[in-house]
Amino acid sequence: MANARTIAQAIEDAAKTAPTRGMRFVPESGVPGTRGVTETSEASFSFTAIERASARYGGALQALGLRKGDRVGLILPANEDFVLCFFGAIAAGIIPVPIYPPLGPGQLQTYLDNTRHVVEKSGARALVTPAKIKRLLGTVQSACPALEQVVAVEAIRESMEALRPEKITLDDIAFLQFTSGSTSRPKGVSLTHANIASNLEVIMENGLGVREGDVGVSWLPLYHDMGLIGFVIAPLYYRVPSIFLSPLLFLKRPVTWFQTITRHKGTISYAPNFAYALCMKRIREKDLEGIDLSTWRVAGCGAEPIRPETLESFASTYAGVGFRKSAFVPSYGMAESSLGIAFSPLEQGMKTLSLDGPTLWSEGIAKPIDDTPPKSSADPSPDSSDTVVRLVSCGRAFPAHQIRIFDPDDLTSEHPFEERKVGEIRISGPSVMHGYWDDVDRTRESFAGPFLRTGDLGFLHDGDIYICGRIKEVIIVNGRNYYPQDMEWEASHVPGVRKGSVIAFGSRHPSGIEADRERVVIAFEMQDAQDMPMGQKVSKEIRKAVQEGIGLTVDDVVALPPGTLPKTSSGKLQRGKTRSLYESGELLDRVKSRDAGRIEL
Ligand code: ATP
Ligand code: MG
Repeated sequence: MANARTIAQAIEDAAKTAPTRGMRFVPESGVPGTRGVTETSEASFSFTAIERASARYGGALQALGLRKGDRVGLILPANEDFVLCFFGAIAAGIIPVPIYPPLGPGQLQTYLDNTRHVVEKSGARALVTPAKIKRLLGTVQSACPALEQVVAVEAIRESMEALRPEKITLDDIAFLQFTSGSTSRPKGVSLTHANIASNLEVIMENGLGVREGDVGVSWLPLYHDMGLIGFVIAPLYYRVPSIFLSPLLFLKRPVTWFQTITRHKGTISYAPNFAYALCMKRIREKDLEGIDLSTWRVAGCGAEPIRPETLESFASTYAGVGFRKSAFVPSYGMAESSLGIAFSPLEQGMKTLSLDGPTLWSEGIAKPIDDTPPKSSADPSPDSSDTVVRLVSCGRAFPAHQIRIFDPDDLTSEHPFEERKVGEIRISGPSVMHGYWDDVDRTRESFAGPFLRTGDLGFLHDGDIYICGRIKEVIIVNGRNYYPQDMEWEASHVPGVRKGSVIAFGSRHPSGIEADRERVVIAFEMQDAQDMPMGQKVSKEIRKAVQEGIGLTVDDVVALPPGTLPKTSSGKLQRGKTRSLYESGELLDRVKSRDAGRIEL
C-alpha cells in the first residue's frame, strides 16, 4: 500500500500539516445559531490540540500502570473525552476497546451483562468512564478478575502526565472493535494499524474520492465502525475537518443533523436506513427554514438493509432544500472488514434491481424483471407469482479486495457461484481482520480458506454486490427461503405499527404435529402504549398485508408495547434473540414488566 501509516503516525502528521483544521463537538443544547439555542460555542480542537491533549490522556493511562498491548475499555459518550482517550491510548500503544455507554433509560441488567461480556472477552485491565457511570459498574468489576480498575474520565482529563513514547508498527493491534451483536453476543475483532490503513485508503481515495473542501458531519455512535473509523479516524488520517453531534441529540431532534450540515457546509455524512426514515417522520416543514443540503455530496447509507422506498422518498422530500439524490452512496460493510467492503460509485445515486420474488425464494436465483413503472409496496399485487423484490446495489469490491459468492454449506470449495446465484458472501483483502481477540475457535469458524465468511447471503450482478439478508435469519417455508426484512417491510405499513420495530423470524416451537415445519412469527411494537387493546386488530391486518405482499401465511403475530423488542446498542434488530425470548415465553413477560430495571443516570 502506497502510504500506509499507523494511526499514531497520522496523529502527528495531522498536527504538523493541518494545524488549523480539526474536530468540533455540537453541544447537547443544540446547534449554535439555530432558534432557541442560546449557547453559541462548539467545543473545538485543532489537530495540533488533539495531538497535545491525547498525549496527556495517553500519559495518564500509562500512569495507571497500563503498558503497550494492554486493553483499556472506554465507556464514554460521543464527545471529546472519547476521541482524546481513544487517540491517547493509541499513541501509548495501549489497545482501546470502545464500549457503549448506557444510552438513557433501558434495561440495566442487559446493559451490565453486555458490558461484562465485552470486558471479559477483551481482558481489559482498566475501564475509563464518567464518574456518574462508574458507580453503576461495581458488579462488572467484581465479576471480571482481570479488570483491576475503573477510572473516572474526569481524573484522566485533569492529568498532566507526559506520554512516554512507544514504538508502534503497522502490524500492532490498533484497537478491538466489537461487532454489533445482531446475531449473537458481540465478537471482539482485532484490527491492526495495517488493516485500518488499507481500509481507509480504499474508502477515502477509491470510494469517496476525498478532496479539498470536504467536511464530515456525524451523529453516529463513536463506539462502532461507521462512527469511529469513518468519522474519527478517517478525517484525522486525511485531515478533513469533522463535526460531531451526539446520537442522543439526533434521536431527540433529527433536524440537528441538517442544521449541522447547513452550518458547516458538510459534504460527507453517513447513516443507516432507519435514520433517513426518522427524518421524514419527525422533521416538520417549518423546521426546514434556513436548511441547505446542497453541499452534501456523499450521503452514505449502510449497516443495515437499505430500502429503496426510504431513500427515494427522502430524496424527493428534501429536494426543495438542496438535497441531490445522486449524493446517495449505498454501502456494505462489517466490523470484521474494519469498516467498508463495497460502496456504490460516487454521483450514481441509488441503483436498484427488481427481481422475481418466487424465483429468488425457491431457487435462490436472482431473475431480473422489467417492472417499469416500478410497483410501489403501497400497491402490492395480490398475485404472488409476480411479486417483485427490489434490492439496492452496493457497488463493486475495492481494489486489492475480493468479493465472491459460495455455497454457504461448502467450506472447501474453490469455485464461487456464477452471477445471480444467491449464496454466502465471502471476502478477502488487506482490510479483513486476522481474527477475533483471544478466540481461536470462532476465528477458525469464520474463515473458509482465504475468505472471511460474512454470514450474509447475496449475489453479484454485472459485478455489483446485492445483499439479500443473513443466513441465520432466513425463514424456510415449503422449501422456499424467505428474508425477514421483506415481511417486516409489509407489516410496517399497517396503521398502528411502530416503524422500524417489527421483527419476523421462524420458530419450530412448540413441538407437535407440525414440529418439522418452521412457523412464521412476527413480533411488532404498537405505535402507542395506550393502543395495546387494538393489538389483535392490527395483528390481523399484518397477517393480511404479508399474505398479499409476499403470498405467505404468517402463523403467529405478537403485539408489544413500544420499546420492548430487543435491539443492539446501534439500534439493529436482534431476530435470533427475539426468537429465543418468544420460545421461552419471556417476550410476553416483557409486556408486563417493561419498566423493571431501568437505568437512572
Ligand atoms: P453480529 O456480527 O454481532 O451479529 P452485526 O453483523 O450486525 O452483528 P456489524 O459488523 O456491525 O455487526 O454489521 C455488519 C452486518 O450488517 C453485515 O454483515 C450485514 O448483515 C449488515 N449490513 C451492512 N451493510 C449492509 C447493507 N448495505 N445492506 C444490508 N445489510 C448490511
Ligand atoms: Mg456480523
